[in-house]
Amino acid sequence: MTELAAVSVTALKGVGAALAEKLARVGLETLQDVLFHLPLRYQDRTRIIPIGALRPGQDAVIEGVVAGADVLMGKRRSLLVRLQDGSGTLSLRFYHFSQAQKDGLKRGTQLRCYGEARPGASGLEIYHPEYRSLNGHEPIPVEQTLTPIYPTTEGLTQQRLRQLSEQALARLGPHSLPDWLPAELARDYQLGPLDEAIRYLHRPPADANLEELAEGRHWAQHRLAFEELLTHQLSLQRLRESLRAQEAPQLPKARRLPTQFLANLGFQPTGAQQRVGAEIAYDLSQPEPMLRLVQGDVGAGKTVVAALAALQALEAGYQVALMAPTEILAEQHFINFQRWLTPLGLDVAWLAGKLKGKARASALEQIANGTPMVVGTHALFQDEVQFKRLALVVIDEQHRFGVQQRLALRKKGVEGRLCPHQLIMTATPIPRTLAMSAYADLDTSILDELPPGRTPVNTVLVADSRRFEVIERVRSACHEGRQAYWVCTLIEESEELTCQAAETTFEDLSAALGGLHVGLIHGRMKPAEKAAVMAQFKKGQLQLLVATTVIEVGVDVPNASLMIIENPERLGLAQLHQLRGRVGRGSAASHCVLLYHPPLSQLGRERLGIMRETCDGFLIAEKDLELRGPGEMLGTRQTGLLQFKVADLMRDADLLPAVRDAAQALLARWPQHVSPLLERWLRHGQQYGQV
Ligand code: ADP
Ligand code: MG
Repeated sequence: MTELAAVSVTALKGVGAALAEKLARVGLETLQDVLFHLPLRYQDRTRIIPIGALRPGQDAVIEGVVAGADVLMGKRRSLLVRLQDGSGTLSLRFYHFSQAQKDGLKRGTQLRCYGEARPGASGLEIYHPEYRSLNGHEPIPVEQTLTPIYPTTEGLTQQRLRQLSEQALARLGPHSLPDWLPAELARDYQLGPLDEAIRYLHRPPADANLEELAEGRHWAQHRLAFEELLTHQLSLQRLRESLRAQEAPQLPKARRLPTQFLANLGFQPTGAQQRVGAEIAYDLSQPEPMLRLVQGDVGAGKTVVAALAALQALEAGYQVALMAPTEILAEQHFINFQRWLTPLGLDVAWLAGKLKGKARASALEQIANGTPMVVGTHALFQDEVQFKRLALVVIDEQHRFGVQQRLALRKKGVEGRLCPHQLIMTATPIPRTLAMSAYADLDTSILDELPPGRTPVNTVLVADSRRFEVIERVRSACHEGRQAYWVCTLIEESEELTCQAAETTFEDLSAALGGLHVGLIHGRMKPAEKAAVMAQFKKGQLQLLVATTVIEVGVDVPNASLMIIENPERLGLAQLHQLRGRVGRGSAASHCVLLYHPPLSQLGRERLGIMRETCDGFLIAEKDLELRGPGEMLGTRQTGLLQFKVADLMRDADLLPAVRDAAQALLARWPQHVSPLLERWLRHGQQYGQV
């Protein structure tokens, strides 16, 4: 039997050149691809549910006789069709309908419908159901299996995808789809047969547990998630090997520049900064590219570590690029590096997406001519940016960048045959177990000590009914010479609305706090405006800064010691921790007020409780994972983690230790299985499969 990986979709009935092209767009080129294109969810069309037994919110097939159809005028014109089946009555409601459609729904017509029953003005209603008339037909059988709903694209119907998977499933067997997990591993980790898992997920039997499937707890999903995570591990290992096989500029340990830098710095590096600095210095002196991740809690002093690394490259006469995920953060690094490097006789160039025209051309020219230090946003990834003797790339707050971007940069720096070193810095956005998996291609250093004199941020929960007291608290803190942030959180995923809310809050607080200098910063402001506001706040000309979460990452104003976060229940714990890290940077005792909107759910109360109890980012991440438990998804924005087809790093976290062991076993004992696995899972997501 031919392996399905080698059979083109054009071998299927009904697939011509045009359809094949459409399928290729969603990554479906072979029958194996079709089989690994798994349903997102299922519908149960295996039973006809009596109307009287329907629950609100239930998706169901029902059958009945039309008892009447009326056009209602109301707020919006609609067609209301009453349907009876002897057990009860239900309404079908159509807001869009044609005369022909209306005529076809006459009293006495026998219908079969599918849709979601919802409570409506006339009892249970189904809006725009799928339906067909049963009059004059032979009885139509119900479905035998659950109905799969596939991820799709424009012009590719579910019907079509079902026909294709049907045909591919007919050719599925252990020989046509080899199982690359050796039997021994499958036994050790209790993983069922691949072909059965695939068959089950495309066509679950009528008695399958929909809830279990929706939560990804079925053995078939585990089987595939395991294989996918395993493949991801293997690809990162490969990536790492291929990278290490390249050559990088060997940078001798620097003396002159670091001595001058430290003398001007105004403080001593912590023990952790020195240790991590030494780990980096060693890597940089090696002939292969460094790939190191520095994890350090917010405020641990990662920027100084980055500067020390940069100096080693600069002293050897090479160029360094530092990239940050937001303009505010990049700008702040630019200011710091200018302050640190200018006295050492080193120029710093600046590049961000918003830089246009002459300024941009001149920045590009400086970079190409070899300005020693380059700071910017992802604009540095762009094709027209030409570096000169680039030896080190520093990426700050890694969780905002994906592996893909990491790769783009690696390629970017290649000059002749030399590949730049890479230093990645992150503030522990994800628990250790996950980090190990997501960053398996990196060495890690942990900055586990805060600079001396920091007092942990004292965090309190206050209901927003006591907003007035909180405003008074801001007033007295500012009168004592301290500075404060007032953070407005995201409203319904809308940046626009969030910025408007921040504007309103800014006006309210300005009025309530007459005499204080209040500033506003949000994502819709022009970069120059934002920069000006930040500069004023930094200089102490503004006492209170009303902000959206644009300030969450990296912003550093040590004199700010009070933060109010509105509706903290809307944010993830990692994000709250990042935000709160904006205070507690100086020597004054700092406070964070979580101004929540009651009532809090049980989970909400526990989560905010964690924030009150600890300032340890690792602990917060672990606890968050525990509380979320399996099934709850983490937005990509928060983790920046990879997208998987079946696996979910949070949900499947408990598989990771076994996945790691299995990856090692596979590499050591069954290396010939590695390529077919990569080919199967990553052919279209080569981002982490190749360099
Ligand atoms: P993060 O790790 O969050 O990026 P930063 O690099 O922004 O932290 O540092 C936070 C603050 O701590 C900055 O004001 C920085 O100057 C200061 N800092 C860094 N290292 C030390 C140190 N060893 N002693 C005192 N202050 C330090
Ligand atoms: Mg930082």
